Amino acid sequence: MSVTEVGKHATVACPFCATLNRVDLTRIADRPKCGSCGRPILLDRPIAVTDATLDGVLKGTDVPVVMDGYADWCGPCKIMAPILDDFARQRQGDVLVVKLDTDRNPATTRRFNIRAIPTLIVFRHGSEMARRAGVIRRQELDAMLGSVGPVGPS
Ligand SMILES: [Zn+2]
Repeated sequence: MSVTEVGKHATVACPFCATLNRVDLTRIADRPKCGSCGRPILLDRPIAVTDATLDGVLKGTDVPVVMDGYADWCGPCKIMAPILDDFARQRQGDVLVVKLDTDRNPATTRRFNIRAIPTLIVFRHGSEMARRAGVIRRQELDAMLGSVGPVGPS
């Protein structure tokens, strides 16, 4: 792509020390590191969000955010997980994929009225743009993102 990307950042919690880090998504090839503990921040996989970190993540992320509301005991969530893993790896830099453990984060689960799991919610600039409950196929996931447009020519 030759278009200059302006303001393409994601904010994520370090999986090791939970510090929120703002990452320049145009430079993920440089292997971003946590500003606090120095360990790598890997955006090629879903990153955990919690009641404490979700607002900071949504506020500080310019690209669409896909949140997977799941629970460890949920069978369908285990079917959904590899689909999301692939999606996160292939769309890294363009989409931020985060996972919400609904058992451990009841406030967020209530706030977004998540009643079935898995539930996928797509946010853009902090606002909910799309939602699906239950296991969905990769094509449907891509379509959810397409519906939050505008997607530039590629
Ligand atoms: Zn850290």
